[in-house]
Amino acid sequence: MKSKQRGTLATIFYFAQECRSRMVLSVLCALISVAAGLVPFWGVYQIMMLFFGGSPGAGDILFWSGISVGGYVLKILFYGISTTLSHRSAYQILENIRLGATERLMSAPLGEVLSQRAGKMKNIIVDRVETIELPLAHMIPEGISNFLFPLAIFIYLVFIDWRMALASLICVPLGAIVYGIMMRNFNSQYAAYMEASNHVNSIIVEYVEGIQVIKAFNQSTESYEKFAGAVSSFREFTLAWFQSTWKLMNLGNAILPSTLLGVLPVGVLLYIEGSLTPAELTLSMILSLSMVAPVTWFTVAVNEWKAVQYAVKDVNELLELPSLPDTACPVQLASFDVELKDVSFAYKESKGDVLRGINLQIPEGSYTALVGPSGGGKSTIARLIARFWDVGKGSITIGGTDIRKIPLAQLSQLVSFVTQDNFLFNCSLLENIRLGQPTASDEEVHAAAQAAQCEEFISRLEKGWATPAGEAGGKLSGGERQRIAIARAILKNAPIVILDEATAFTDPENEDKLQRSLAVLTKGKTLLVIAHRLSTIKNADQIFVLQEGRVVAGGTQQELLEKCALYQDMWRAHTGARAWAANSGRKGEIAHA
Ligand code: ADP
Repeated sequence: MKSKQRGTLATIFYFAQECRSRMVLSVLCALISVAAGLVPFWGVYQIMMLFFGGSPGAGDILFWSGISVGGYVLKILFYGISTTLSHRSAYQILENIRLGATERLMSAPLGEVLSQRAGKMKNIIVDRVETIELPLAHMIPEGISNFLFPLAIFIYLVFIDWRMALASLICVPLGAIVYGIMMRNFNSQYAAYMEASNHVNSIIVEYVEGIQVIKAFNQSTESYEKFAGAVSSFREFTLAWFQSTWKLMNLGNAILPSTLLGVLPVGVLLYIEGSLTPAELTLSMILSLSMVAPVTWFTVAVNEWKAVQYAVKDVNELLELPSLPDTACPVQLASFDVELKDVSFAYKESKGDVLRGINLQIPEGSYTALVGPSGGGKSTIARLIARFWDVGKGSITIGGTDIRKIPLAQLSQLVSFVTQDNFLFNCSLLENIRLGQPTASDEEVHAAAQAAQCEEFISRLEKGWATPAGEAGGKLSGGERQRIAIARAILKNAPIVILDEATAFTDPENEDKLQRSLAVLTKGKTLLVIAHRLSTIKNADQIFVLQEGRVVAGGTQQELLEKCALYQDMWRAHTGARAWAANSGRKGEIAHA
């Protein structure tokens, strides 16, 4: 069951644990800054009193000016300290959120992580999280000063004359009504805005990522129109939203800061009546004007807070990925037999079970192959043994121990999973291979590479072993990339090897090297191969035929050719295709001769 998402503030506080004292200090500095900000008003008031009281002495004026400047300097200083502290806290929170999200990815079922789009995850972890920083850093110093400062001014006005204090607020209810009308659809409009923004983002990503296909199939006009259409409809949406609010927004922006609307007439009346001195009248007007900026800050803050809420919501989606139950104590295994007992499994998105009651025994040191029509469940079985997900029903054991009871770190040492698209990191080829066994010496890495038939093509590269995989990527063939992945697995030397056999890269020279490197990798190991070409598995100890999530037959190749109709069909299709390929190859040779 999906747990309820943590709220925005709760999430932020959760990740703010180690910087709480810094945040408290930031709040204190903001408070001092607000108090110091009042000093200049007090100083100006004193100077005005001196003027209204007769002939002021230069010394007194200088004294009060000094006090005012001092107050101002303190205000700026403490505001600066508060902002610095809150920026540091905000960056710390950002770091914690990012680390939290990546830690979650590490503990979530691998299959779950792989099913997330990389672009989306990058967008959340890098870009969306970044949008939290500025509002968060400014929320403490600015939020506090912008709330407390007008409050303090209001209290100050109360001390001068409570009627002036009330008069300064006359614009607040008027402004609030206008903003209230303007904001009545804010939540739904903002949600629609975010949806439109995400839509245009995904169209842009699709356009950029698909540019190769678009060009190859001459779809540039049509695709560009889709792209341009999305961008312009986003523009129209934002414009329409803006237009629907701008009149009210301007009205609100005009009314809310107009504190003089109340203070001026009321002040003049009180002055005429004799209950307000000229100094008090002037000070009240200055004070009421100083309330303006903080009050308008809140209208901007509402928008920014909304952006933070959406960013945190996206982050929470990652943070709430289910985590795979793990245990800490390493297990002593009796053997490296792998057994599936009555295993059923359904993907989250799949309609029903994609594996139904699978029973397989893969003895230690044996060579087992899975074959069958595409979609039969071969890769799913392999992924379940590597615990990308947990089985729905039944169990998978290694050496008689349920893999759910084996710590994930130990399991990953036990199983090497070599697929067609093993990832190369953007470090040197040497380091890419060393990933298989981080403590391996250079000599051991070289030996593994040699066994995987990599040495020859690596020596052809200008920078040899030091070539960054990203740079080499363009120069390496698919088969060569795969041999690097095999070298990595040879170095890892796990007792159980799962191999998703390549369908591509099957040119004869590569094929020969691939087979030789695989022979080293799999020697003496418990080997499970997802086979696409039946000729490569003729030596398998046992072959299981999978169809629609069930094992329909099992045995050696000879046995299956005798008893399994599906296997016979597959064999005929395979040998037919090979004969065809051989014939067309010969025709090509004749044509070239
Ligand atoms: P095979 O390896 O035999 O081609 P798979 O194990 O890849 O078969 O797939 C078995 C079934 O599970 C198919 O119907 C496939 O569409 C579905 N499937 C595979 N991967 C996923 C996934 N990540 N999410 C949802 N369904 C999936």
